[in-house]
Amino acid sequence: SDSILEVRHLKQYFHVNKHLTIKAIDDVSFQIDKGEIFGLVGETGSGKSTTARTIMGIYPPADGEVYFKGQLISDKKIYHKNKKEIQRKMQFIFQDSAAALNPRMTVEKIIAEPLIINHIINEKEELKKKIDSLLVEVGLDTSYKSKYPSELSGGQRQRVAIARSIGMSPDLIIGDEPIASLDISIQAQIVTLFQKLQKKHGFTFLFIAHDLSIIRFISDKVGVMLKGKMMEMAPAKELFENPLHPYTKALLSAVPVPDPIYERNKKILTYDEESIQADG
Ligand code: ADP
Repeated sequence: SDSILEVRHLKQYFHVNKHLTIKAIDDVSFQIDKGEIFGLVGETGSGKSTTARTIMGIYPPADGEVYFKGQLISDKKIYHKNKKEIQRKMQFIFQDSAAALNPRMTVEKIIAEPLIINHIINEKEELKKKIDSLLVEVGLDTSYKSKYPSELSGGQRQRVAIARSIGMSPDLIIGDEPIASLDISIQAQIVTLFQKLQKKHGFTFLFIAHDLSIIRFISDKVGVMLKGKMMEMAPAKELFENPLHPYTKALLSAVPVPDPIYERNKKILTYDEESIQADG
Protein backbone atom coordinates (compact mmCIF):
# COMPACT_ATOMS: atom_id res chain seq x y z
CA SER A 1 0.00 0.00 0.00
CA ASP A 2 0.90 3.66 -0.28
CA SER A 3 1.94 4.25 3.31
CA ILE A 4 3.18 7.69 4.32
CA LEU A 5 3.55 7.04 8.03
CA GLU A 6 3.89 3.77 9.84
CA VAL A 7 4.38 3.41 13.56
CA ARG A 8 5.30 -0.09 14.73
CA HIS A 9 5.24 -1.23 18.35
CA LEU A 10 6.22 2.22 19.52
CA LYS A 11 7.14 2.67 23.18
CA GLN A 12 8.10 5.76 25.08
CA TYR A 13 8.92 5.83 28.78
CA PHE A 14 9.62 8.75 31.06
CA HIS A 15 11.74 7.91 34.07
CA VAL A 16 10.40 10.40 36.57
CA ASN A 17 12.50 9.04 39.45
CA LYS A 18 14.02 5.81 40.72
CA HIS A 19 10.61 4.41 41.56
CA LEU A 20 8.38 5.90 38.91
CA THR A 21 8.42 5.26 35.18
CA ILE A 22 5.55 6.60 33.08
CA LYS A 23 4.73 4.46 30.07
CA ALA A 24 3.57 7.38 27.91
CA ILE A 25 3.37 5.13 24.83
CA ASP A 26 3.02 1.44 25.45
CA ASP A 27 3.27 -0.58 22.26
CA VAL A 28 1.36 1.54 19.76
CA SER A 29 1.09 0.64 16.06
CA PHE A 30 -0.76 2.37 13.25
CA GLN A 31 -0.38 3.25 9.62
CA ILE A 32 -1.57 6.21 7.57
CA ASP A 33 -1.88 5.96 3.81
CA LYS A 34 -1.21 8.74 1.36
CA GLY A 35 -3.90 11.42 1.41
CA GLU A 36 -5.65 10.00 4.44
CA ILE A 37 -6.74 11.96 7.52
CA PHE A 38 -6.05 9.96 10.65
CA GLY A 39 -7.66 11.30 13.81
CA LEU A 40 -5.89 10.41 17.03
CA VAL A 41 -8.19 10.97 19.97
CA GLY A 42 -7.87 10.42 23.70
CA GLU A 43 -8.16 12.08 27.06
CA THR A 44 -5.45 14.33 28.43
CA GLY A 45 -2.40 12.28 29.35
CA SER A 46 -3.28 9.35 27.08
CA GLY A 47 -0.03 9.75 25.12
CA LYS A 48 -1.10 11.63 21.99
CA SER A 49 1.48 14.42 22.15
CA THR A 50 4.25 12.03 23.07
CA THR A 51 3.34 9.97 20.00
CA ALA A 52 3.52 13.10 17.81
CA ARG A 53 6.82 14.20 19.33
CA THR A 54 8.35 10.77 18.95
CA ILE A 55 7.33 10.63 15.28
CA MET A 56 8.89 14.06 14.80
CA GLY A 57 12.15 12.88 16.27
CA ILE A 58 12.08 15.07 19.38
CA TYR A 59 12.77 12.01 21.51
CA PRO A 60 14.14 8.73 20.19
CA PRO A 61 11.65 5.94 20.92
CA ALA A 62 12.36 3.63 23.84
CA ASP A 63 11.40 0.84 21.46
CA GLY A 64 9.66 0.32 18.14
CA GLU A 65 9.95 1.95 14.75
CA VAL A 66 8.69 4.95 12.84
CA TYR A 67 8.67 4.84 9.03
CA PHE A 68 8.08 7.96 6.96
CA LYS A 69 7.54 7.25 3.25
CA GLY A 70 9.11 3.86 3.80
CA GLN A 71 12.21 5.27 5.49
CA LEU A 72 13.09 4.17 9.02
CA ILE A 73 13.33 7.65 10.55
CA SER A 74 13.38 6.44 14.15
CA ASP A 75 16.91 5.27 13.38
CA LYS A 76 19.24 8.08 14.48
CA LYS A 77 21.63 7.72 11.58
CA ILE A 78 18.91 7.59 8.94
CA TYR A 79 17.16 10.57 10.54
CA HIS A 80 20.29 12.71 10.64
CA LYS A 81 21.26 11.85 7.13
CA ASN A 82 17.86 13.00 5.84
CA LYS A 83 17.01 15.56 8.50
CA LYS A 84 16.46 18.57 6.21
CA GLU A 85 14.19 16.68 3.84
CA ILE A 86 12.24 15.07 6.69
CA GLN A 87 11.73 18.37 8.50
CA ARG A 88 10.51 19.94 5.29
CA LYS A 89 8.17 17.16 4.20
CA MET A 90 6.76 16.46 7.67
CA GLN A 91 5.24 19.66 9.01
CA PHE A 92 4.01 20.14 12.55
CA ILE A 93 1.26 22.47 13.66
CA PHE A 94 0.52 22.53 17.34
CA GLN A 95 -1.65 24.34 19.81
CA ASP A 96 0.87 27.11 20.31
CA SER A 97 2.15 27.39 16.74
CA ALA A 98 0.65 30.83 16.59
CA ALA A 99 2.34 31.89 19.82
CA ALA A 100 5.65 30.52 18.55
CA LEU A 101 5.78 32.88 15.57
CA ASN A 102 8.73 35.22 15.78
CA PRO A 103 7.28 38.47 17.17
CA ARG A 104 9.92 40.56 15.43
CA MET A 105 9.14 39.23 11.96
CA THR A 106 6.41 40.44 9.63
CA VAL A 107 3.95 37.92 8.26
CA GLU A 108 5.77 38.13 4.95
CA LYS A 109 9.12 37.23 6.55
CA ILE A 110 7.58 34.45 8.63
CA ILE A 111 6.21 32.74 5.53
CA ALA A 112 9.28 33.49 3.39
CA GLU A 113 11.85 32.21 5.90
CA PRO A 114 11.60 28.44 5.36
CA LEU A 115 11.15 28.92 1.59
CA ILE A 116 14.47 30.77 1.49
CA ILE A 117 16.35 28.58 3.99
CA ASN A 118 15.37 25.43 2.09
CA HIS A 119 16.19 27.04 -1.29
CA ILE A 120 12.68 26.29 -2.48
CA ILE A 121 12.41 29.74 -4.04
CA ASN A 122 15.43 32.00 -4.62
CA GLU A 123 13.99 34.55 -6.99
CA LYS A 124 12.47 37.69 -5.42
CA GLU A 125 9.47 38.12 -7.69
CA GLU A 126 8.61 34.42 -7.54
CA LEU A 127 8.88 34.52 -3.74
CA LYS A 128 6.47 37.44 -3.58
CA LYS A 129 3.94 35.62 -5.76
CA LYS A 130 4.24 32.49 -3.63
CA ILE A 131 3.65 34.39 -0.39
CA ASP A 132 0.64 36.18 -1.87
CA SER A 133 -0.92 32.93 -3.01
CA LEU A 134 -0.25 31.18 0.31
CA LEU A 135 -1.93 34.04 2.19
CA VAL A 136 -4.98 33.89 -0.04
CA GLU A 137 -5.13 30.11 0.41
CA VAL A 138 -5.37 30.46 4.18
CA GLY A 139 -8.00 33.18 3.92
CA LEU A 140 -5.85 36.25 4.53
CA ASP A 141 -5.40 39.00 1.97
CA THR A 142 -2.04 40.42 1.01
CA SER A 143 -2.45 43.46 3.27
CA TYR A 144 -1.44 41.13 6.12
CA LYS A 145 2.11 40.83 4.80
CA SER A 146 3.42 43.86 6.65
CA LYS A 147 1.73 43.01 9.95
CA TYR A 148 3.44 41.60 13.03
CA PRO A 149 2.03 38.61 14.96
CA SER A 150 0.98 40.90 17.83
CA GLU A 151 -1.34 42.73 15.44
CA LEU A 152 -3.25 39.55 14.57
CA SER A 153 -5.98 37.55 16.29
CA GLY A 154 -5.27 34.00 17.46
CA GLY A 155 -7.04 32.54 14.44
CA GLN A 156 -5.17 34.80 12.02
CA ARG A 157 -1.86 33.84 13.62
CA GLN A 158 -2.72 30.16 13.24
CA ARG A 159 -3.52 30.85 9.57
CA VAL A 160 -0.04 32.32 9.16
CA ALA A 161 1.51 29.25 10.80
CA ILE A 162 -0.52 27.07 8.41
CA ALA A 163 0.60 29.12 5.37
CA ARG A 164 4.23 28.71 6.46
CA SER A 165 3.76 24.93 6.66
CA ILE A 166 1.84 24.58 3.42
CA GLY A 167 4.63 26.47 1.66
CA MET A 168 6.88 23.46 2.22
CA SER A 169 4.52 21.23 0.17
CA PRO A 170 4.54 18.67 2.98
CA ASP A 171 3.69 15.01 2.48
CA LEU A 172 2.53 14.80 6.07
CA ILE A 173 1.12 17.36 8.46
CA ILE A 174 0.92 16.49 12.13
CA GLY A 175 -1.56 18.73 13.89
CA ASP A 176 -1.32 18.36 17.66
CA GLU A 177 -4.44 20.04 19.08
CA PRO A 178 -4.03 22.73 16.41
CA ILE A 179 -7.30 24.46 17.26
CA ALA A 180 -7.55 23.85 21.00
CA SER A 181 -6.53 27.34 22.06
CA LEU A 182 -8.94 29.12 19.71
CA ASP A 183 -12.48 30.38 20.30
CA ILE A 184 -15.19 27.87 19.33
CA SER A 185 -16.36 29.73 16.20
CA ILE A 186 -12.79 30.18 15.05
CA GLN A 187 -12.06 26.49 15.72
CA ALA A 188 -14.72 25.57 13.19
CA GLN A 189 -13.22 27.90 10.61
CA ILE A 190 -9.73 26.52 11.05
CA VAL A 191 -10.90 22.89 10.88
CA THR A 192 -12.75 23.69 7.68
CA LEU A 193 -9.65 25.43 6.35
CA PHE A 194 -7.55 22.33 7.11
CA GLN A 195 -10.10 20.21 5.28
CA LYS A 196 -10.10 22.51 2.27
CA LEU A 197 -6.30 22.62 2.11
CA GLN A 198 -6.06 18.85 2.49
CA LYS A 199 -8.48 18.33 -0.41
CA LYS A 200 -6.52 20.75 -2.57
CA HIS A 201 -2.98 19.60 -1.77
CA GLY A 202 -3.62 15.98 -0.87
CA PHE A 203 -1.21 15.86 2.06
CA THR A 204 -1.58 13.13 4.63
CA PHE A 205 -2.82 14.42 7.95
CA LEU A 206 -2.34 13.14 11.47
CA PHE A 207 -4.89 15.17 13.40
CA ILE A 208 -4.62 14.95 17.16
CA ALA A 209 -7.41 16.20 19.40
CA HIS A 210 -9.25 15.36 22.59
CA ASP A 211 -12.50 16.65 21.04
CA LEU A 212 -14.51 13.76 19.61
CA SER A 213 -16.79 15.90 17.43
CA ILE A 214 -13.88 17.50 15.62
CA ILE A 215 -12.24 14.11 15.17
CA ARG A 216 -15.46 12.71 13.74
CA PHE A 217 -15.86 15.69 11.44
CA ILE A 218 -12.43 15.58 9.88
CA SER A 219 -11.12 12.00 10.03
CA ASP A 220 -11.15 9.14 7.56
CA LYS A 221 -9.73 6.76 10.14
CA VAL A 222 -9.67 7.13 13.91
CA GLY A 223 -7.44 5.77 16.66
CA VAL A 224 -8.50 5.94 20.30
CA MET A 225 -5.71 6.12 22.89
CA LEU A 226 -5.86 5.49 26.61
CA LYS A 227 -2.93 5.31 29.02
CA GLY A 228 -0.39 4.94 26.26
CA LYS A 229 -2.25 2.17 24.45
CA MET A 230 -4.28 2.15 21.25
CA MET A 231 -7.69 0.93 22.39
CA GLU A 232 -9.43 0.82 19.04
CA MET A 233 -8.75 1.82 15.48
CA ALA A 234 -11.28 1.89 12.65
CA PRO A 235 -12.69 3.96 9.79
CA ALA A 236 -14.38 7.00 11.36
CA LYS A 237 -17.89 6.00 10.34
CA GLU A 238 -17.51 2.51 11.78
CA LEU A 239 -15.94 3.68 14.99
CA PHE A 240 -18.59 6.26 15.75
CA GLU A 241 -21.57 4.18 14.62
CA ASN A 242 -20.48 0.85 15.95
CA PRO A 243 -17.68 1.11 18.50
CA LEU A 244 -16.33 -2.28 19.51
CA HIS A 245 -14.10 -1.54 22.48
CA PRO A 246 -15.81 -0.92 25.85
CA TYR A 247 -13.67 2.17 26.39
CA THR A 248 -14.75 3.68 23.06
CA LYS A 249 -18.37 2.88 23.91
CA ALA A 250 -18.00 4.53 27.30
CA LEU A 251 -16.33 7.56 25.77
CA LEU A 252 -19.05 7.98 23.16
CA SER A 253 -21.86 7.58 25.64
CA ALA A 254 -20.27 10.14 27.95
CA VAL A 255 -19.89 12.65 25.14
CA PRO A 256 -22.69 12.45 22.57
CA VAL A 257 -21.22 13.19 19.17
CA PRO A 258 -23.74 14.56 16.67
CA ASP A 259 -23.86 13.35 13.10
CA PRO A 260 -23.56 15.14 10.79
CA ILE A 261 -21.15 16.95 12.94
CA TYR A 262 -22.01 20.40 14.13
CA GLU A 263 -25.47 20.09 12.61
CA ARG A 264 -26.65 22.77 14.97
CA ASN A 265 -23.74 25.02 14.27
CA LYS A 266 -23.70 24.60 10.53
CA LYS A 267 -23.48 28.32 10.13
CA ILE A 268 -20.17 28.64 11.90
CA LEU A 269 -18.77 25.57 10.21
CA THR A 270 -19.53 26.81 6.74
CA TYR A 271 -16.33 28.22 5.44
CA ASP A 272 -17.20 31.80 4.75
CA GLU A 273 -14.37 33.53 2.94
CA GLU A 274 -15.75 36.98 3.61
CA SER A 275 -16.35 36.67 7.31
CA ILE A 276 -12.82 35.52 7.98
CA GLN A 277 -11.15 38.89 7.71
CA ALA A 278 -13.38 40.18 10.43
CA ASP A 279 -13.16 37.52 13.08
CA GLY A 280 -10.46 35.04 12.65
P1 ADP B 1 -1.74 13.74 25.76
O1 ADP B 1 -1.08 14.44 24.61
O2 ADP B 1 -2.66 12.65 25.34
O3 ADP B 1 -2.39 14.68 26.71
P2 ADP B 1 0.98 13.22 26.66
O4 ADP B 1 1.63 12.49 25.57
O5 ADP B 1 1.27 14.67 26.79
O6 ADP B 1 -0.59 12.98 26.61
O7 ADP B 1 1.36 12.54 28.05
C1 ADP B 1 1.34 11.13 28.25
C2 ADP B 1 1.91 10.82 29.64
O8 ADP B 1 3.31 11.08 29.64
C3 ADP B 1 1.32 11.67 30.75
O9 ADP B 1 1.23 10.86 31.89
C4 ADP B 1 2.34 12.76 30.91
O10 ADP B 1 2.32 13.26 32.23
C5 ADP B 1 3.63 12.03 30.63
N1 ADP B 1 4.68 12.89 30.05
C6 ADP B 1 4.63 13.56 28.86
N2 ADP B 1 5.77 14.23 28.64
C7 ADP B 1 6.57 14.00 29.70
C8 ADP B 1 7.89 14.41 30.06
N3 ADP B 1 8.61 15.18 29.26
N4 ADP B 1 8.38 13.97 31.26
C9 ADP B 1 7.65 13.18 32.07
N5 ADP B 1 6.42 12.74 31.78
C10 ADP B 1 5.87 13.15 30.62
